[in-house]
Amino acid sequence: MSMSNSEKSTSTPSDFIRTIIAEDLKANKNDGRVHTRFPPEPNGYLHIGHAKSICLNFGIAAENKGGICNLRFDDTNPSKEEVEYVESIKSDVRWLGFDWGDRLFYASDYFEQFYQYAVQLIKKGRAYVCSLSADKIREYRGTLTEPGKESPYRIRSIEENLDLFERMRAGEFEDGSHVLRAKIDMASGNLNMRDPVIYRVLRAEHHRTGNKWCIYPMYDFAHCISDSIEGITHSICTLEFEDHRLLYDWFLDELAVDCHPRQIEFARLNLSYTVMSKRKLLELVKEGHVTGWDDPRMPTLSGMRRCGYTPESIRNFCERIGVAKSNSMVDIALLYHCIREDLNKRAQRVMAVLRPLRVVIDNYPEDQVEELDAENNPEDPGMGSRKVPFSRVLYIEQEDFREDAPKKFFRLAPGREVRLKHAYYITCVDVIKDEQTGEVIELHCTYDPETRGGWSKDGRRVKGTLHWVSVAHSLEAEVRLYDHLFVKANPADGKEGSDFKSYLNPNSLETLTSCRVEPSLAGAAPGSRCQFLRHGYFCVDSVDSSEERLVFNRTVSLRDSWAKIEKKGQT
Ligand code: ATP
Ligand code: MG
Repeated sequence: MSMSNSEKSTSTPSDFIRTIIAEDLKANKNDGRVHTRFPPEPNGYLHIGHAKSICLNFGIAAENKGGICNLRFDDTNPSKEEVEYVESIKSDVRWLGFDWGDRLFYASDYFEQFYQYAVQLIKKGRAYVCSLSADKIREYRGTLTEPGKESPYRIRSIEENLDLFERMRAGEFEDGSHVLRAKIDMASGNLNMRDPVIYRVLRAEHHRTGNKWCIYPMYDFAHCISDSIEGITHSICTLEFEDHRLLYDWFLDELAVDCHPRQIEFARLNLSYTVMSKRKLLELVKEGHVTGWDDPRMPTLSGMRRCGYTPESIRNFCERIGVAKSNSMVDIALLYHCIREDLNKRAQRVMAVLRPLRVVIDNYPEDQVEELDAENNPEDPGMGSRKVPFSRVLYIEQEDFREDAPKKFFRLAPGREVRLKHAYYITCVDVIKDEQTGEVIELHCTYDPETRGGWSKDGRRVKGTLHWVSVAHSLEAEVRLYDHLFVKANPADGKEGSDFKSYLNPNSLETLTSCRVEPSLAGAAPGSRCQFLRHGYFCVDSVDSSEERLVFNRTVSLRDSWAKIEKKGQT
């Protein structure tokens, strides 16, 4: 795959899937080919669970000499699929760092082949047209403990089946009047083998084939044949398809196919405090619980991109979670860890005051402005430095001042001295309050001119370092603070009577509109990322931010040691 070398992870992960593939190669199966695919159904946007599958399939192809990976749209269900989804999926896969080259496929391109394969099954006496209603088919299917009942239409002759199936295609029958079913075993312990439906009559316009077809193949039939048509060697899928493998093997054994892929199942990604099913995500979008598929709170790749996630951090996350054979829940804190780790290395540090409190430095000359040196990233000296203007009137964070400060509050309080980052030591000498409300509206401080750059020559130490901006030079900005979308770790646990939406976090978005950021952020490009010192990592919103109105999304917070102390009641 054409991921550039510099982006490529140095360690090659190992897991049971890679072990199976290595063994197949050793046994010279498939003439030494490794051919995987990522087969999304275009009925929604990709989420982080899909990223796991993308990294796995494209990753395995890249790791093996001559390995290739297809992007195939499993677009056999016209009623739920849209072009918008196809386009978003392509751009998300590309953004994640993978390239399918000229191997872009659509299952809908195989409609004629699927049809011919179905005819083959009929001719072998392995499929029949059934005219039971959908309800009856369900009823006849039986349960896990009871065998199913054979359809009275099971005994139709091959000739009759061929004729009816052709007429189904020709549009002679109403939707739902007939289906084509595989003739397997109504008593099978595996319900998928109880004469599954493989074709239905459905008058729906398809986003690629228009109204050419009024019969559509079912997923199970189309999926395994698509893999075979494309010469896939290893069909990697999630655990819920384990029970379908028997059926896929049956189809491919009955049909005269050249390629019979080996299916390997792995556990899907579940992430705490979010949901991972496109159906549920669509519900959130449609009902307006989020602003769209790309809402930064969504676990979609477009949401995460808008939130400020880097493709590298997501790939790294997928590598760390690995692949396993049993379902589990990954702590979302690991995802946060991965993005922090990545942005720590590359994000420019800037100062932004989210809830401003005015500070006047009484002994600082009124008209003076100093351009102070500020390093861009202490983790990477190569990122250089910038100038930050300092003047007599500043903003600091409201929460960085307390009138009755406990002992361990190392920030500003009456009579206490703190460091202003990159600037000077200041001491609070007076507190101005609103006469009516008693709210603190302005602080008066003095600064020590001998501490320029934030270091005292006499070795005097202060414990607190605050960020700040100059009132006259700072820019106004809107800042959106995001929290978990759900208050419950597993909102979709499926427990009786529990609707996942009842666990939506009412405080998942806090919008702050009077924030002030340092002037270096003027004209910041949409999507660009930075660290607001002491707050977290932020990115310029790619939809709502403009030259006139800066809007930032919080990607992830920094860990707050003060909050921890306060929680433990150690003040
Ligand atoms: P959803 O349940 O979210 O609708 P899906 O499986 O129906 O997902 P597809 O478009 O069919 O969505 O998925 C494309 C590929 O991505 C499949 O191979 C599927 O197994 C894989 N995939 C989907 N969800 C996850 C997940 N949570 N973890 C890992 N792989 C996943
Ligand atoms: Mg699916």
